Amino acid sequence: MKNAVEKMEKEQLELIGDNHISTNVETPLRHDAFVKSDQQKIEAIQKYFAKIMEELGLDLTDDSLSGTPYRFAKMYVKELFYGLDPSKKPKISTFNNKYGYKKMLIEQNINIDSACEHHFLPIVGHAHIAYVPNKKVIGLSKINRLVDYYSHRPQVQERLCLQILKDLQQSLETNDVIVVINAKHLCVSSRGIKDKNSFTTTTEYGGVFEDINYRNEFFGSLSSKIDD
Ligand SMILES: [Zn+2]
Repeated sequence: MKNAVEKMEKEQLELIGDNHISTNVETPLRHDAFVKSDQQKIEAIQKYFAKIMEELGLDLTDDSLSGTPYRFAKMYVKELFYGLDPSKKPKISTFNNKYGYKKMLIEQNINIDSACEHHFLPIVGHAHIAYVPNKKVIGLSKINRLVDYYSHRPQVQERLCLQILKDLQQSLETNDVIVVINAKHLCVSSRGIKDKNSFTTTTEYGGVFEDINYRNEFFGSLSSKIDD
């Protein structure tokens, strides 16, 4: 029996990519995603990528190209997509809110280095995040590390935004969190429509941020770098 992807017309596959349709908040993973070790994955991907290069007509005996399949495989598993592996999730230690700080805390211009799951091309930009502490506070750099972790998997921007929000809400034991991401998608700027200037903004929030006054305070506090 043909699987769902095979049955789908090629045109429809392109449409899903160009419209950036996501099917789930969770990253769709196979049940056996972590049966193989990183090393085994690198060895397998190395072979497949060599095949892709060969199909493109490249001569892999050339000194400059011979190491590319290994470099590519290692980069995919260890760097670009390390965030697929839950065992690599940064430990998010929270502390009791001893100061009783009850106002908004904003962490802005957090780097987004991700990749779109429809084209495997970079998504680059910034996240701006705020929360109003309840009983827990979090080390500031932990927010950056969490963003880095969820970014380093094949993504759609809407899901990335939601995954960060949900994790922070859970870790901080409050719904009072807002996440905004501004990012450029290379699949929009370098192929397809080839628009070099447009960028995408996604916003997810809960709790007090449902109140427009909180959102206004948050957006008012963002530096002018919001648009990059
Ligand atoms: Zn894309």
